[in-house]
Amino acid sequence: MKVLLSEEQLQQGIARMAAEINQRFGRQPLTIICVMTGSIILVADLIRQLEMPVKLGSIHTSSYRGETKRGDLQLDASMLPDLTDAQVLIVDDIFDTGHTLDAVSRHIQSLGAADVGTAVLLYKHGRQEIEFDVDFIGFDIPDEFVVGYGLDYQGIYRNLPYVGVMESDDLSPDA
Ligand code: 5GP
Ligand code: MG
Repeated sequence: MKVLLSEEQLQQGIARMAAEINQRFGRQPLTIICVMTGSIILVADLIRQLEMPVKLGSIHTSSYRGETKRGDLQLDASMLPDLTDAQVLIVDDIFDTGHTLDAVSRHIQSLGAADVGTAVLLYKHGRQEIEFDVDFIGFDIPDEFVVGYGLDYQGIYRNLPYVGVMESDDLSPDA
């Protein structure tokens, strides 16, 4: 595995994001929506550095990448709390084409939230397919498939404490 962002770099980036979020929202209550599953580690580290009253909810997405056409993004919103008039911050692991965050954001808005912001750990350079402004970004990264710190390859590697790029001698999930 080639390390792209070390544990130390990740913690520095997350501390900076948390400071920006604290500054922007002050003491107003904030509902964090964790986009499962990739953002659980980011959310766990981030919310412990937030100073306002925080509520937590989650939404599950799957995109069937490579198997079916774009637009088949599935949202499971059954775990969301009541968002009426809430100040919401959607947190995802990575912004790639942008379709996931766009769909989640539209859905959350449709539920009556007062304000919907977005935060991602990683922003993949040069991949965006739609116009979408992410409010808080941890790191800009090159167009490579990354794993670790929540991000998986076929279900594994989420537990790596760093973000890395797989190399040819990395274990296949079946090994
Ligand atoms: P988008 O809808 O922006 O194209 O894709 C966002 C989702 O695709 C992310 O939430 C993540 O689940 C997945 N994804 C995109 N790029 C990568 C990557 O480099 N590594 C991993 N593990 N997942 C990715
Ligand atoms: Mg995802």
